This record gives sequence, structure tokens and C-alpha cells, in this order.
Amino acid sequence: MKLHEYQSKNILSQELIQIPKGTVCFDPNAVYEFADTLNGKVVVKAQVLTGGRGKAGGVKIFSSSAQAKKFASSILGTNLVTHQTGNDGALVSSVLVEELLEIQQELYVSISIDSNCKLPFLIVCAAGGMDIEEIAQISPEQILREDIDPLFGLKEYQLRKLIKLLALPDDQSDSFRKFLSAIWDTFQKNDFSLLEINPVVITSDGRLLAADAKIEIDDDAIFRHKEYQKFDNDSEKDLVEKRANDLGLNYIKLDGEVGCVVNGAGLAMATMDIVNETGFQPANFLDVGGGADQQKIVDSLRIILEEKHIQAILINIFGGVLRCDVVANSILEIEKEYPNEIRPFVIRMLGTNSEIASQILQDTKLNIIMVNNLNEASAKIKSFLSSEI
Ligand code: GDP
Ligand code: MN
Repeated sequence: MKLHEYQSKNILSQELIQIPKGTVCFDPNAVYEFADTLNGKVVVKAQVLTGGRGKAGGVKIFSSSAQAKKFASSILGTNLVTHQTGNDGALVSSVLVEELLEIQQELYVSISIDSNCKLPFLIVCAAGGMDIEEIAQISPEQILREDIDPLFGLKEYQLRKLIKLLALPDDQSDSFRKFLSAIWDTFQKNDFSLLEINPVVITSDGRLLAADAKIEIDDDAIFRHKEYQKFDNDSEKDLVEKRANDLGLNYIKLDGEVGCVVNGAGLAMATMDIVNETGFQPANFLDVGGGADQQKIVDSLRIILEEKHIQAILINIFGGVLRCDVVANSILEIEKEYPNEIRPFVIRMLGTNSEIASQILQDTKLNIIMVNNLNEASAKIKSFLSSEI
């Protein structure tokens, strides 16, 4: 689960990590009122679950409460498009209003999990801020990395090494060392999968604070933290994804035109690769799960068919516990609901009762193309979609 900046900062402040004075606002009047308590000298930041807000005009600095309110009115309720969102952008339903910091230096700090070596790792850079991605490309030697053994934690020698390489002013070195330690403790204790603070700001009056914060909580650990139940960020999810998740489907919406119905996460990934090889793109990741029943397949197909931009449906089922005849009967049920459906269903079914499934599907009027393997599936999708263009 991703957290908003204001939610992330809330957790950080409980862990005694310094954050700017601020408050989240859901309407422009509240922005005016809070900005006024700071004589109008504030930064107003769109709260969306994506990065790159600064460059996209979602973070603005003001010296009057009226201007801050005006900006909030203009951005609340709109979609902010950043280089990390699609063209649709992300809906701004709240803004974070904060004291304006006088920035002397911006640093980058993050901890995430390296899935290859299966360890958390810390990244630090003395030149943080909005250009961190460019810095990583142009001068990657400035990006410092330390892997962390979760049993031993972030060790003192690792901190000393980083601090030496960063060459911060003496009075800041100590506070930054404590900051990094606190960041690691917070990351581990709270079961995060990502904690990114960009920028960590050193102000002209010598304070060191987390000026931005991005947290992702490991979904598999949420049950251990009752305190996270209050973060219901589901409303930010795509509506189709939300509906699918509510039906118990493991569904992620993607940008392409080929809808995929697959059982098993690994097979679903492989199926997406196959679709990609056709030169077209998958419209979704969907693992119906090994124990799916007829209802779940019908639900899945319905969700996909209601997406009008989807041009072809690829069903890739390896029949085990989920028998192929059950899948075939789901398709018959769908035919009753969508008798005029003309989009092709490319179907590869292997395993339990696959022959019965082929018989069941013999008399349908849907545009069904049975294939024996994934190469054939790919060729059929390619030829159908190419002729459509
Ligand atoms: P992001 O672009 O989505 O990562 O949003 P950030 O919260 O990181 O804000 C983008 C940039 O706005 C930061 O890198 C800072 O340079 C600037 N910024 C944010 N807060 C302040 C502030 O209080 N004072 C000043 N001067 N700049 C700020
Ligand atoms: Mn940032």
C-alpha cells in the first residue's frame, strides 16, 4: 500500500524524525486559514500517490495566504499529470500546506528492498531534489549505496563511511548520522517496502528535516499493523482495479489492448511477455488463482469485456484444480450476457478436461480461436490486431 506524503510524514514524526510544520487540507478555505498562521509563507503540495509533482506544477511556493488559497482552488479536484503517471494523471483530492523552508542543501535518502540479493539497501546522495534521476544517469558515482543485513541492521561503520563520503559540514554530520539511523529503524519496525525522502533539507538556520516522504507498506505485513487500517487509499485506485480486487481477483490495469485471463501469477507474467512479443501490449495482469470457480472466470471476463479499448482477449489456462470445462462453461455464460460480442477470444487450454472444453465451445457464436501453444496464440493475436489497424 502506498501512502500519501502527509500520511508518511505523520508516521515519521511519530518516530521523532523532524518534518516541516504543516497540515493537510481538503478545501481552499482551510488552506487560507492555515497559511495565515504562517503569515502566508507556505509551500502548497498536491497529494497524489506519484512522484514528479514539483516538475509538473504540483508543488508551489507562496508568500500570501490568498495566493496559496487560489492555487489550492485551481488544483483540487483536477488530475495532475506527472512523468510518472499515465496521460490521465492522478486526482488531487487534498493538498499539504507547510511552512516555507529556506533551503541550503537538498539530500536524497531512500531504503528499499533489492529483490535480487533479497536485502534492504540504503541509497544516499548529497545532491537530492527534483533532478535526482538525471544525477543518477550523468554521475552515478554520486549515488552511494549500502546493503543492510536485516539481522544486524545499519552498522556504525557503514554510517561513518557514508558521512565521510558526503562531506557535510561538521555540525550537520552528526544530525545526518542520527537521521539515517532513525530512518532505518522506522523502515524495519513498520514493515515498509519503500521509504524515500527526497529531499532531506538542511535549512539556512541549520535544521535538518524530511521535506518530502514517500512510503510503501509491504501488503503482506499489513495484518501486523492495526494502525494502518486508517489509511484507506483505495479510492485512489483505478475504478476497474478496485472492482476486480473487491471480487477477489488479482488484477492490475495496464495500458495495452489485449485483455488477459490466466490462472497462476507466473503464467500470467509469461503470458504478458508473449503478448509483448506480438508488438501489442497487455491491457491487464490478471491471475484468477488456482482455485477459481466459474463465477470468478465470468467476473474476470465481464471486467475485461467492459473495457471498450480492449481489442482481443487471450485466455491462457493450465487446467489443474481449475478444470478447463469450467472455464468453457464460463465463456458460454458470458455469451448469453454479450450475444453481440465480436472481439476475438484466443484460447489456449491445457490440462484437466481440455478436450471436453473444446467440445463445449464448438457451437458458440463468439469469435473463438482455439490454439495449442503460446506461439500460435501470439501469431493469432498479431494477425488479428494487425488487420484491425
Ligand atoms: P516531488 O517533485 O513530487 O518529489 O515533490 P517534493 O515534495 O520533493 O517538492 C519538489 C521540490 O520543491 C523540492 O525538491 C524542493 O526543491 C521544493 N520545495 C519543497 N518544499 C520547499 C520549501 O519549503 N521551500 C523551498 N524553497 N522549496 C521547497
Ligand atoms: Mn520529492
